[in-house]
Amino acid sequence: MINRKRIVESSFALVAAVSRFAARARTFYYDVVLSDHVCPTCDSPVTMLGEGRCRCRSCSRIVDPTLAFQACPRCGAKPRLRIRRYECSACGAEITSRFLFDGLVFDADYFRRKMGEHRQRRAEQRERIRQVLAEGRSGVLTPPPADLSTVPGLADALNSLTGGMQLPLTYQPREGFDLKRYQAHLQAHIQPFAMSLDEIPPLGEDARIDRVWRFITIIFLAHAGIIEVWQDGQTVMLKQYETNPEGPHVPGDVEEIDGVEGLVGRVET
Ligand SMILES: [Zn+2]
Ligand SMILES: [Zn+2]
Repeated sequence: MINRKRIVESSFALVAAVSRFAARARTFYYDVVLSDHVCPTCDSPVTMLGEGRCRCRSCSRIVDPTLAFQACPRCGAKPRLRIRRYECSACGAEITSRFLFDGLVFDADYFRRKMGEHRQRRAEQRERIRQVLAEGRSGVLTPPPADLSTVPGLADALNSLTGGMQLPLTYQPREGFDLKRYQAHLQAHIQPFAMSLDEIPPLGEDARIDRVWRFITIIFLAHAGIIEVWQDGQTVMLKQYETNPEGPHVPGDVEEIDGVEGLVGRVET
């Protein structure tokens, strides 16, 4: 047991020593490869900041040394950075950077752009999920309290519905209008197939008021997504709202873009 503990401890010490050595080797490597290059602006010496970035010791300009100091070995043209590697901007040949200690470079703009797209796609997907869930749940929503002013055009519709009757309608719900009672009555008679408003039996004695209240109730049930309402000539038609029997489905799941999805996810966390 003691031996095993000692082995583990010396392994950690070895890893730490190797890391320190690697850091020194990296610094030494950069000093060497940058020793015969100077700032393109002011000819002063440059120091490496990190992979693909060095800074002028005098004017502080930051450049990518591979782009600034290397050329295509095939045609001599300037390199350009393509996501995670360099290539010739003229002939497209791959260019191996002399200025990368472990051969990894990172196009920060590219990944920033990809991160933005990734976040936007996730936000869009969340919104789709929210909508699908909202539609899926519409069957159990209870309608909001009756307020005729919140439904544009309702007053005109009610007037045309009761056209030919003597008194013009006042648009305040009167006392005695029990939306819950009318809602229960309508839901007891509504069918999954189309029927007209007049096929629903009256609930009150005053036929005109009863018809108006039935109509108001179906407007609110339609707004709550419980029934569908449409007009067929002079007839108001309605039926139960069909919920999706297959359950919520989210179209357009997040797809991979250029195979960087996993990488982007790691960068973000
Ligand atoms: Zn400079
Ligand atoms: Zn080339």
